[in-house]
Amino acid sequence: MSSLILSRSDLDFMLYEWLDVTRLTQRDRYAGHSRETFDAILSLSAQIATEQFAPHNRASDLQEPTLEDGTVRILPEVSAALHTFAESGLLAATMDEELGGSQLPHVVQQASFLWFQAANLATAGYVMLTMANAHLLTAHAAPDVVETYVTPMVEGRWFGTMCLSEPDVGSSLGDLTTRAERQTDGTFRLSGTKMWISGGDHEMSDNIVHLVLARTGSRGLGTRGLSLFLVPKWLVEPGGRGERNDVTLVGLNHKMGYRGTVNTVLAFGAGEHRPGGLPGAIGYLIGQEGHGLAYMFHMMNETRIGVGAGAAALGYTGYLHALSHARTRVQGRELGAKDPRKPPVPIIRHPDVRRMLLASKSYVEGAVALVLYAARLLDESKTAPTETERREAGLFLDLLTPMVKSWPSQWGLAAHDLAIQVLGGSGYVRDSPVEQFYRDNRLNPIHEGTHGIQALDLLGRKVRAAEGTGLRLLVGRMRATARSVRRDLPDEAAVLEKYADRILAVTEALWATGDECRALANAAVYLEAVGHIVVAWLWLEQAAACRGREGTFYEGKRTTARYFLRHELPRVDAQLDLLESGDCLLLELDDSVL
Ligand SMILES: Cc1cc2nc3c(=O)[nH]c(=O)nc-3n(C[C@H](O)[C@H](O)[C@H](O)COP(=O)(O)OP(=O)(O)OC[C@H]3O[C@@H](n4cnc5c(N)ncnc54)[C@H](O)[C@@H]3O)c2cc1C
Repeated sequence: MSSLILSRSDLDFMLYEWLDVTRLTQRDRYAGHSRETFDAILSLSAQIATEQFAPHNRASDLQEPTLEDGTVRILPEVSAALHTFAESGLLAATMDEELGGSQLPHVVQQASFLWFQAANLATAGYVMLTMANAHLLTAHAAPDVVETYVTPMVEGRWFGTMCLSEPDVGSSLGDLTTRAERQTDGTFRLSGTKMWISGGDHEMSDNIVHLVLARTGSRGLGTRGLSLFLVPKWLVEPGGRGERNDVTLVGLNHKMGYRGTVNTVLAFGAGEHRPGGLPGAIGYLIGQEGHGLAYMFHMMNETRIGVGAGAAALGYTGYLHALSHARTRVQGRELGAKDPRKPPVPIIRHPDVRRMLLASKSYVEGAVALVLYAARLLDESKTAPTETERREAGLFLDLLTPMVKSWPSQWGLAAHDLAIQVLGGSGYVRDSPVEQFYRDNRLNPIHEGTHGIQALDLLGRKVRAAEGTGLRLLVGRMRATARSVRRDLPDEAAVLEKYADRILAVTEALWATGDECRALANAAVYLEAVGHIVVAWLWLEQAAACRGREGTFYEGKRTTARYFLRHELPRVDAQLDLLESGDCLLLELDDSVL
């Protein structure tokens, strides 16, 4: 029986036939790899995800983490799965060999990790945070810090968190209030409360490495006043674990979904513990004072792509569950068949059910394509042969990142909505896996920067960065795809050309007067429209990769590409028209009318 978690054939198609990832092995960094090593990693991932992650997905939703006498209790299967994951070496997969990594291309790592996210998004959450934390430290911390903190994390002995949000500060990071005071020995003492911290406290690892944004005295207000600190739960002494740091668990948040990842409120410097005889959480400055947010963006960008990937993976498993149900649930007769003596048919025979399945397929496979394309760009930005190619790949990835975060979060959830509908009453009950998938996925448009914040980032910053290079690269690549498919798919090529022109025209119109308020008033509409166009482009790319191939798999790809361009893409016309009209209703309305 084929897996209900993910489709290996689809991943193989995207990696090898579309993105041609084996070509990466010609580069020095990846020379130790081959199609065989990639295949082995994907098979291992599928196996661990299926055997260790999927089986407790339901149980960790039903038995969410609890607080007993100040200790967080988490279903033991979560820890067991995480330790199997760590033992497999996958935690350090993309890292340098000298740090214990295997220098796996990011695109293959991303494909591998999709298995875990689809099997159990909440358990995979601990891995995502720990990896992103370790990657930030590797990029920005001093070598002794890397040695002390990164090694235990990549070995799975310590876990990592990111601590940005506070009770009164979510989206507006420039208003963070947690303070850090420099001590005579060069360390800092932190005080303040951090809210919503995933993986903030538990007993599954020997230590927890918090990366905390806090404000130092001399740097003033706004984001420029923020610095980044490493604050371990347990201080580290030569030869082992030292004193308990002054980081206190205030309580747990009780979530709608994604329940297996414990979510905490943490007090730093509340005086509950007194390391060195004094209150205040001891923190170590990472990099330079005042550059904290820039460093944190290393982790945020990775987790933004990770969130998009999780939403895509979860959407995918939801689609596979709906598809399997539609093939076996027998109900009603073929359209137009009135004779009750005729046998009923599986619901997949009904055009409306096919509509829902094809729409879901287009969303989830489109979302995975977007995520893997972005991961391939990350590899290009690090290892492409020339400086110009590396720079362009980086700028293009920057442009795509808000869409990689938001598009799968929106449409993966839409796929779950449709999956519930395909299952009918069986989808609406709490025993149904699709009901849990929906709740789990509902977080993704919220955390790591809400949908609205991603929209401001795309239209306010990314399209204008480096004089619009990222946007020009996008449009140039769309046109190149259109040219390459013009002979086989002339209508689709013409459609893509049209939308490439429209993206440029609309962006120019929005910024024509330079009035930021007017330009950004409908930023979310822009994010959604451009996201849909980008996914349409990637569908055409996939259709092009099917050229000359026969069989139902390839026919499925071609049909879904046609569906997306015919049924989905026209939705953006209304959005683009609205944007071009310069409508300012949302900017100008009086709050009292709401
Ligand atoms: C389950 C969960 C896990 C989390 N894990 C972590 C974690 O590990 N570490 C961490 O630091 N944080 C974490 N967060 C916090 C998360 O990143 C924030 O919830 C998110 O950034 C939004 O902040 P907020 O909840 O305060 O909402 P607000 O910032 O109050 O936003 C509410 C609404 O207003 C909109 N809005 C706000 N400002 C603007 C603006 N300027 N323009 C347009 N719209 C705006 C938002 O888009 C949103 O729709 C987590 C949150 C949750 C729910």
